[in-house]
Amino acid sequence: MKIPGYSSLEEIEKAFQIEIDKEEKKKLQKVIEKHPMFIPDYYARLIDWNDPEDPIKSIIFPSPGELDIAGSYDTSGERENTVHTGLQHKYRETALLLATNRCAGYCRHCFRKRMVGIPTDETVKLFDRAVDYIKEHREITNVLISGGDPLVLPTDVIEYFLSELSKIEHLKFIRFGSRIPVFYPMRIYEDRRLLELFSKYSTPERRIYLVTHFNHPKEVTEEARKAVDALIRHGVVVSNQAVLLKGVNDDPEILATLMKEIVSAGVVPYYVFQCRPVKRVKSHFQVPLKKGYEIVEKAKQKLDGHAKRFKYVMSHRTGKIEIVGIIGDEIYLKYHQAKNPKKVGKLFKRKLTPNAGWLDDLKPVKEELAVEV
Ligand code: SF4
Repeated sequence: MKIPGYSSLEEIEKAFQIEIDKEEKKKLQKVIEKHPMFIPDYYARLIDWNDPEDPIKSIIFPSPGELDIAGSYDTSGERENTVHTGLQHKYRETALLLATNRCAGYCRHCFRKRMVGIPTDETVKLFDRAVDYIKEHREITNVLISGGDPLVLPTDVIEYFLSELSKIEHLKFIRFGSRIPVFYPMRIYEDRRLLELFSKYSTPERRIYLVTHFNHPKEVTEEARKAVDALIRHGVVVSNQAVLLKGVNDDPEILATLMKEIVSAGVVPYYVFQCRPVKRVKSHFQVPLKKGYEIVEKAKQKLDGHAKRFKYVMSHRTGKIEIVGIIGDEIYLKYHQAKNPKKVGKLFKRKLTPNAGWLDDLKPVKEELAVEV
């Protein structure tokens, strides 16, 4: 699928009549050589190119901050959870398919930066073998088709995925992880066939979910609303995973507005993710946990119950850890999902330091609380 957009600094300079400083350009070029840039035209037009702090620009336009390589490329242990090429099985009930390494735009904060837009051996090669694995594992109730962005694949391929997965009786629902409603919403509302497919396969017995990724209220445009509306009208439940990002949404007012806007469009707030300590991401995007918790709680004070259904979580190697609360210099955490099912629901606390950004930065406290739920 050809998406209109920009993949070089020169194209951006020409299209938006801006001039990037020579020294800065050299640095950005170095960044792009490692991790490609692609900005869909529709999304590029949401940016005020004269504002150096434009939040949409921060999401999609490279930054010299990406030259900082502190962190890791696999913060969630994806390699160790891979059971076949492109198929991960970390949580008992969920299988994760990496269907492609392409996206409609490359987010600078992507936690799969190691593979998106560049050659990789991590995407699914033998879809039928993945299907066989899911068939053999009756504990799997749902499949998450992710990538990259699976909705950049041809509609025929999406149909094949849906038709094969729908034959597996123990699958209760199928999820797509896609940023297409944000980056290129017309791909959804202009493709009648895709919408018909969703209508066909999203049934009262096995619903299709689309988990998208709105990070800022400016992204909730008329076009994005139209895409969400088309999905809902064709039987798809749409939910949102945002990432808390420095310079984008690390402000209670912005985060609260984002939640209000997506709810008004019909999107269910699902998670706010703590930004992972990913190489070339951590140093310029991660908000410390203490500050992050304060932002999230202040945002929640501005919201009705519906708009604050999301959980603030860290997607850690050991599981999804909810940031439950902070008292004094202690942070309370809870396993919402865990690689080891016995840990699900486990509440624990750690010593909090002002700059800690991840579980591994937190020190144990002396009399550790461990309540099995
Ligand atoms: S759309 Fe998703 S997978 Fe693609 S670059 Fe953005 S965050 Fe990463």
